[in-house]
Amino acid sequence: MKILAGIYEQVLKRNPGEPEFHQAVKEVLESLEPVAERHPEYVKAGIFERIVEPERQIIFRVPWVDDNGTVHVNRGFRVEFNSAIGPYKGGLRFHPSVNLGIIKFLGFEQVFKNSLTTLPMGGGKGGSDFDPKGKSEMEIMRFCQSFMTELFRHIGPDTDVPAGDIGVGAREIGYMFGMYKKLRNEFTGVLTGKGIPYGGSLVRTQATGYGLCYFVEEALNAKGLSFEGRTVVISGSGNVAIYAAEKAQQLGAKVVALNDSNGYVYDKNGINLDTVKLIKEVQRGRISEYVKHHPHAQYTEGSRGIWTIPCDIALPCATQNELHGEDAEILIKNGCIAVGEGANMPSTPDAVELFIKNKVIFAPGKAANAGGVATSGLEMSQNSLRLSWTFEEVDEKLKTIMKNIYKNASEAAAEYGEPDNLVLGANIAGFKKVAAAMYAQGVV
Ligand code: NDP
Repeated sequence: MKILAGIYEQVLKRNPGEPEFHQAVKEVLESLEPVAERHPEYVKAGIFERIVEPERQIIFRVPWVDDNGTVHVNRGFRVEFNSAIGPYKGGLRFHPSVNLGIIKFLGFEQVFKNSLTTLPMGGGKGGSDFDPKGKSEMEIMRFCQSFMTELFRHIGPDTDVPAGDIGVGAREIGYMFGMYKKLRNEFTGVLTGKGIPYGGSLVRTQATGYGLCYFVEEALNAKGLSFEGRTVVISGSGNVAIYAAEKAQQLGAKVVALNDSNGYVYDKNGINLDTVKLIKEVQRGRISEYVKHHPHAQYTEGSRGIWTIPCDIALPCATQNELHGEDAEILIKNGCIAVGEGANMPSTPDAVELFIKNKVIFAPGKAANAGGVATSGLEMSQNSLRLSWTFEEVDEKLKTIMKNIYKNASEAAAEYGEPDNLVLGANIAGFKKVAAAMYAQGVV
């Protein structure tokens, strides 16, 4: 970094104790250095300084009462990062690790991701350090309602449209939507990922995982390869992991492993997804329970051990920084040909560097997992039109969007002299539209 180094220094100084945010900004600014060289007008207009500073950051108290009558206080966040190309859009994460720096990294990534979808959506992200694990149905509902009694005044269908993320699925969206509707006395598409009977879109549940596989398939096809007959390892066993596994199987691959934060299961015959859906979606249990249903499979404690299983394609779909440099080395040694990020920033910078250096096809999350928010965009369109499209219609649109994201990212990478570097390509392609809009709108 030359032109943009000072901006990164300023980010470090202004946002102490936020390593994930620093990591995300550094990667993007490094990619944008050649863009800054070609566009001195963007430098002069302060586009780079402004794009790393959220437009608004909201932090609020979320008090709730558990089943025993004990009062708890969690912290809620909504970071409205950039609205140059549309209303803020991005998920809500409920996980004990949530803090401002994590929400800012996610919101920052979301700006570029949403731009890549080509749909008119700005970037934002939110959540809470609430831990849904082990909570009763009523505790989850009371927490979601309390969270929305503050969030509702900051969001709206033309202002900010949240969705799900880790710990927030259709159940939580339902409780939050119900409270929003009651407080506002209006029925609008203010949240996406809603249930089908009240304005949700078909394919939204599957969209991130399916979209990831459409993107990776496109990248493989460009090299004369495909999922067909490949062995796949997927981390996580939540929404993204389950539907990535489903699509990989439909494309002819064998998925042999999944994990959660405790450990991983290995099934040499191929993971049985009906069992996984039963354990995770119906019973809300742990992945270790898989071996009770399939005694020939193996469960091992320690989630990162999953990367020692030999595979052709690895799809990290759990959380940030879950795949380290030493895991990348093992994957490469075992002959892995492609890595597709379903999670946000799951690979550490040294892992990414190793994949690119060793010519492993590397699909960065910003581009590869954009299918979720793209389908949320399609949910917003259907809500505005007061129409519901069929599963096939939405799936077809999702496929087209993912192919276009791949095309735009790979063309930008080629234009800037590194044809196979999709990290560079995705960052530049995502930036271009947002920067042009910010430039046109003046210093605001
Ligand atoms: P879920 O809550 O459905 O599942 C999360 C999965 O990741 C669980 O298996 C969970 O295991 C595991 N996990 C979470 N935190 C950790 C951790 N610290 N270490 C190891 N494993 C962990 O979330 P999603 O599937 O929705 O999200 C997964 C990733 O995909 C996130 O990075 C998210 O930001 C990203 N993403 C999600 C989108 C969506 O549409 N849902 C869209 C784009 C990106 P455990 O139960 O043990 O915590």
